[in-house]
Formats: sequence, structure tokens, C-alpha cells
Amino acid sequence: MHHFEPDKIRNVVLLSHSSAGKTSLGEAMLYGAGAISRLGGVTDGTTTSDYDPSEIKRQISINLSLLPCQWKDCKINLLDTPGYPDFVGEVKDGLAVSEAAVIVVCAVSMVEVGTEQVWKYAAEANLPRFIFVNKMDRDNASFFNALKDIQAKLGARCLPIQLPIGSQKDFQGVVDLVTKKAYMGNPLKEAEVPASLQSDVDSYREKLVEAVVEVDDELITKYLEGEEINEEQIHRCIKEATRQGKVVPVLLGSALKNMAISPLLDAIHDYLPSPVEREVKAANASTGANEAVKPVAGAPVSAFVFKTTNDPRIGKISYLRVYSGTISSNSQLWNVNKGANERIGQLFILRGKTQEATPQLGAGDIGAVAKLATTTTCDTLCSREHQIKFVPIEFPAPQLSMAVHPKARGDLDKMSTVLPKITEEDLTLKVQREADIGEILLSGMGETHLDVAAEKLTAKFGVEVNLQLPKVPYKETINTTTEAEYKHKKQTGGHGQYGHVLLELEPLERGTGFEFTERVVGGAVPRNYIPAVEKGVNEGRMEGILAGYPVVDVRVTLFDGSSHPVDSSDMAFKIASAQALKKGLSEAQPVLLEPIVNMTITVPESLTGDIISDLNTKRGRVLGMNPGGGVNIIQAQAPQAEVQRYAMDLRSMTQGRGTFTVEFSHYEEVPPQIAQKIIAQKNKQ
Ligand code: GDP
Repeated sequence: MHHFEPDKIRNVVLLSHSSAGKTSLGEAMLYGAGAISRLGGVTDGTTTSDYDPSEIKRQISINLSLLPCQWKDCKINLLDTPGYPDFVGEVKDGLAVSEAAVIVVCAVSMVEVGTEQVWKYAAEANLPRFIFVNKMDRDNASFFNALKDIQAKLGARCLPIQLPIGSQKDFQGVVDLVTKKAYMGNPLKEAEVPASLQSDVDSYREKLVEAVVEVDDELITKYLEGEEINEEQIHRCIKEATRQGKVVPVLLGSALKNMAISPLLDAIHDYLPSPVEREVKAANASTGANEAVKPVAGAPVSAFVFKTTNDPRIGKISYLRVYSGTISSNSQLWNVNKGANERIGQLFILRGKTQEATPQLGAGDIGAVAKLATTTTCDTLCSREHQIKFVPIEFPAPQLSMAVHPKARGDLDKMSTVLPKITEEDLTLKVQREADIGEILLSGMGETHLDVAAEKLTAKFGVEVNLQLPKVPYKETINTTTEAEYKHKKQTGGHGQYGHVLLELEPLERGTGFEFTERVVGGAVPRNYIPAVEKGVNEGRMEGILAGYPVVDVRVTLFDGSSHPVDSSDMAFKIASAQALKKGLSEAQPVLLEPIVNMTITVPESLTGDIISDLNTKRGRVLGMNPGGGVNIIQAQAPQAEVQRYAMDLRSMTQGRGTFTVEFSHYEEVPPQIAQKIIAQKNKQ
């Protein structure tokens, strides 16, 4: 593909609920535009967009894919995103670098949870958008039912610019409401508007014109005075109304049957904004002030890295969106975030998994470069002379944590070195080492997300892992004060062993930790052995007497003891102290403590009752509620052990409409009956 001026580029993100047909639509558009010579299918795993084995296996998109094609004099960069909520990170990547969105809605299932979700994202990103009603060929497909649902749930400003000719098995084409021309067949050919559609065409055209002329004061007046608005004027108004978000054009077709795809390409070409028509700002690195970044070829270079992948053959690939200037292969750019020079090797254009080398990437365009040394996702690359920084993409917080264990013991080191590579690729994945439980936790958006991450570790880096719910970091403490004495005395042949201590154990306030002090008088335990006593106590408290969990919120005081001039040693005092501690713990009403987490749960208001009764079954406590705007924000506390699978529970209770965050709050005593079970189970292991 040759170079395109910024006003001849359309960066368009495809969004939808899972399975509405984005991948198929992307494929049909590439085929229609002649970018590919064979139309691939999702069911046989041959689409340009979904080439990853994990995607083919599940028949869902997991990764954002770039699908560039040329339509008329424009380059259209389609960004196909996953619809499955676990992969929202990829959706955020795509939204960040697009000027517009096409939201795909299935003509049978209509507006689904995921449709409303991506609609919200597109609105937050302030993106002009189209709705494409897909699967018009399916049994039970109804454009008019879908339209009603769209207008009810997404707003009345969603207005058709086409009407269908026939539907289901009889779906044959579309009528363009601006030109009032009919197009039928595959490939589409101009045809007569069916007589039965004539009155619908007139009335929907009227509604469209009435809505779009609003963006032009002169035309409103003309329109109200009953003057004819010509096609050229309607086109101009649709474009402007779309750009301003006053109207969302609704189109339709069938991706699978490759029907009515070229009018969508035309509409993207004609109505969606180019990089020139959207204002972008970035912070000037020296003044901190925001400045406009114009997509001008001769301006200083600026580009934003919106995605990173690791290809086993090529290595690290960074996806770039150029905002100003022109980047050349084999040049240097300045990474503002890292404060370092970055050597840019061969630039290329990606289409699914294929790469096409390109000497340059111009302002407004999207491409990739391999093997950047320090650059990571969300970094800005620019000219060193004019440094600016784009706002990083905001990713949602992880919802689910699992412990990762290598299947082969020997793979632990390798796993630790490759985990950062998969988190580098996906900023919604986090890795953290939990010292308390000796596990490495992988956190992400849901079960599928983590399963796919595990598959990636195997496929790309050859490390097989198991995912398990993390161990709960229980702790132990005591409820009363006690004294404990232990004398370690052994006479074995030559040198004996002698250590004798008296310890006092007192419970401390929750969250204080563990303390050791001494108040030995008269050298009952000689000074030089006190460090050994402290060591014995500290080692001993790492394994409590109930179930081997660390002991906290206890003060241990060494207050008496005795020694032997020959047989006493550090070792003897250490052993005596650890034993005294054990004895003391068992006599001081030992109890098990569990971590309690704070939760903020956001759900549709109507589901509040379900969420609260579920929290009750999980030993949760509701601390407060903040309803408004159809949603309720519930503050609660619950034992960590009960809510480790909350991501799955909440998703099934709310069909994916709920979100939540979790953070550690404090430790509390485990109720006795539950404690008994935990202790029995731990001791069985
Ligand atoms: P995505 O998850 O939004 O990318 O959806 P896909 O493109 O993967 O499509 C999901 C399923 O719907 C696949 O089985 C497709 O073959 C099927 N599909 C997609 N578009 C159409 C269509 O226009 N008509 C029919 N009948 N099926 C379609």
C-alpha cells in the first residue's frame, strides 16, 4: 500500500457483543475492497483477523487485529476487537487510536449486554459511530425490530441511512435513503425500489433529513420553509451530524453472505472523520501544557504505542499510531516516557498476521515496528527537539487472581522470566509474588482471560502451567495472656546442652504484628543468649500451633530462665525458646485469623437484592449503598476466602453488567466452626 494523506485515512474500531459478527464483517470488508482474494470464515478458522490458535479453538477474537484496506481514494484501517468482556484491554487499545467506531448488532439478538458496554466505551472516548445491523440473512432476523431495540436502548438519534430489501432467506439488498436508489444481489447492482418499500423509504428519509439538517442553520430554515434539500447537502449534513455525535447512522447487511458490504465501505469513506477532522491533544514535555497535535506530514514526529505483542519469530512488535510528521524505517525517535533514544528498524503494515514492509508511516496512519529496545505500551515516541506525551490508555482493574504453578518443577525460573512478557503484551494482566503464601499470582479480567494467558505461556514460551485459586493467607493469634516455661537439657557424652526460658505471651490489638521484648533481671539468661532467644521465638512464630500459619498480634516477653556455664549455647536457647512459645500458644486460647477485603460492587439497581442476598451467603457485610442513574454502588466487606471467585459469580448474577474492585482491609477471627474445618484440612495435607 502506498502513502495516504491524513485526510484520506479512516481509523475505525469494530465493536460489539461477542459473536455479532465483527470478525466476519472485517473479513467481508477486506474481501470487498480487494485486500484479500479469498473470503475466510470464522467457523473454519480462516479469517484474517482471528489467526491465533486460542482464537480458532474458541471461535472468538482475543486480540485486537489490524485490517487495513483501500476503498476508493482512502485507506481504511479497521481495528477488529474482541467482544468477550475478558479482553476489554484490547478494546481499550483500539478505542485509543481510532477516529470512529462501527458497532455491530446482530439482527436476531439485537442490543445485548456487550453492545451497551461498547456503546458506553465509544461514548466515553467521544467517538462518532455507525451501527451495522448484521446477520440480516438469519432466520428471525428483523431490521425493524432491531432498530426499535437500538433506539430504545441506545437512543433515538440512531437513524437508518438504508432500509433492507427483504430479510432472512429473502434478504436481497438495500435502499440508500439519501439517493433513494436500490441495490440488489451479490455483487450489488442498481435496481428498482420495490413498490412495497416506497412509503417506508419516504418516511425514514424524512426523519433522517429532519435530524441531520440541524447541524446547518441555513439549511434548517430552508427545510422548515419546505424547500428541497439536495443530495449533496444531505451528505454533508450526515457527515457533520455523525462527527458531532448528533446522529448515529444505522446500516445493515450480512457479513457471512457478503451482502451489502460495499455501502458500508462507502459510508465509512463518505461520513466518518479522518485524522484531520478530530482534535488530538498531548502534553508538552517541557511546559506540561496541553497542545494540539495536527496530522501534518512535515511537522515534528509524534506517535503513540498502543499495543505490544511478542512474536516467536520476529520478537517484540510495537503497534504505532502516528499523530504528526512522518516516521521512516531505520531512523531514531525519542521515547519521552523512558527518556531514551529508540532505534526504529523496518516499519511495517500489519494485516492480521501478515506483515508488509513499508519505508514510511505518515501522520494519521497505523503500523508496527519490531524489536524496540525500551518502549512499552502507552509510550510516546517523538522527535527529540519537540517532546510531547500522549495520555496513557486507562485499563480497568483486574477482577480475578489465580496462583500460577509450573507443571514441571524445573520450570519455575523460566516461568518467572516469561511472565513479564505476557504482562507487557496485556496491561490488564498483572503478576505479583505473594510472600505470605509463597505463590505467584496472575490477575486479570476473568477465567477465560487467565486461561488464555496460560495457553500463551505454553504456545509462545514453552512453559506449561496450572492455575489454581490462591491459598488464603490465614494467620494465627491468641486471646489471653499466659506464661510458658521450657527447659532444653541434654546430656550426650561429652558436651551437654542447656537452655531454659520463661516467656510471657500477650495478645495485641489486631494489625499490630508480632513483638519480642525482654525484662530479664540479674542475668538469669545471660545477655549474649538473648539474640538466640529472639531468633527461636521468631522462627517458632512462623508456624503456629493450630494449622501452621504465621502468628501475629502477639507480644512475647522473655522474663526469666537459667543457664549452665559449660552446656549452654545459642542453639540450646533457640530450641528452648521455640518450644516455650509453642507451649504458651497452645495454652493462650489460640485462634485462626482470616483476611477481610473491602469490595465496591457496581450493578444495575434492579439487581441490588440479588447481590446482597448472595453477599449474605458469603459471610459478607454491606457497609453502604449509593444508588443513582440506574446503577447501585454497593460497599461491602467479606472474607477473602469467600470471594475469590467473585468475578465469575458476579458475571453470572448480572449477565456481565456488574463490575467490582477488591482490596485488602484487615484480619478477623474465623468463626469457630469454619476454623475447625480449615484446621482439619490443613493438618490432613
Ligand atoms: P465476532 O465475535 O463479533 O467477531 O463474530 P464472528 O465474526 O466471529 O461471528 C460469530 C458467528 O456468527 C460465526 O459463526 C459467524 O459465522 C456468524 N456470522 C457472522 N456474520 C454473520 C451473518 O451475517 N449471517 C449469519 N447467518 N451468520 C453470521
